[in-house]
Amino acid sequence: MPRQFFVGGNFKMNGTIKSITDIVHHLNSAPLDPKTEVIIAPPTLFLLLVREHLRKEIEVAAQNVFDRGNGAYTGEISAEQLRDSGVGWTLVGHSERRVVLGEGDEFIASKTKAALDGGLGVILCVGETLEQRESNQTISIVTSQLSAVASKITTTSWSKIVIAYEPVWAIGTGKVATSEQAQEVHKAIRGWLGEKIGEGVAEETRIIYGGSVSEKNCRELAGEGDIDGFLVGGASLKPAFVDIINARQ
Ligand code: PGA
Repeated sequence: MPRQFFVGGNFKMNGTIKSITDIVHHLNSAPLDPKTEVIIAPPTLFLLLVREHLRKEIEVAAQNVFDRGNGAYTGEISAEQLRDSGVGWTLVGHSERRVVLGEGDEFIASKTKAALDGGLGVILCVGETLEQRESNQTISIVTSQLSAVASKITTTSWSKIVIAYEPVWAIGTGKVATSEQAQEVHKAIRGWLGEKIGEGVAEETRIIYGGSVSEKNCRELAGEGDIDGFLVGGASLKPAFVDIINARQ
């Protein structure tokens, strides 16, 4: 079976009730490719608002989840609470959380496991910094980020994971990876999945690209064999997000 094209919108810490409601209305009336799976991740505060008003074919994701069940963890949100609010997905391991909040591979792996155990789908973000790319460490960094997760979850759990390859140097910078650069890493990730997890998992897992994706560059990227969609930051707040969702049309 071909892998379903997947486009996620990561709003990050952006938006107001008014601007997010406007985006929801725009998405509700836009012609979207029915073959694309679409998920948007507004700030936590707006999850319920978005879930209530957004067309039901589009799923909603949290941008973060804690690795424990409900309890005395001030400021955190559990997988159970997300599910209870109609949220089916979460991002885990975004580079802004790795770099700004200091989240390490082990903690990210533990959150991934908690999210999966709690019944959420996971958009698992991996990627190298510019320094790591320049010292030829891209593949080893990305595969070690994935290995930390692999050691905590079962083979069947991979069906609930979408891997987002997001080179840190391309996020929010306007410097998109070339389609060849992205394809090379996606292919290596698929090869790693085949070798370490299983050929079926390698064949079926969606590997999406993130980092300055726009309506201008999405079609070329989407033409690569191992690029199964996008995780979109800045452009997901704009009407052009619809063109990215429809990149394969
Ligand atoms: P960007 O962000 O599209 O604004 O570069 C991507 C992301 O952080 O997921």
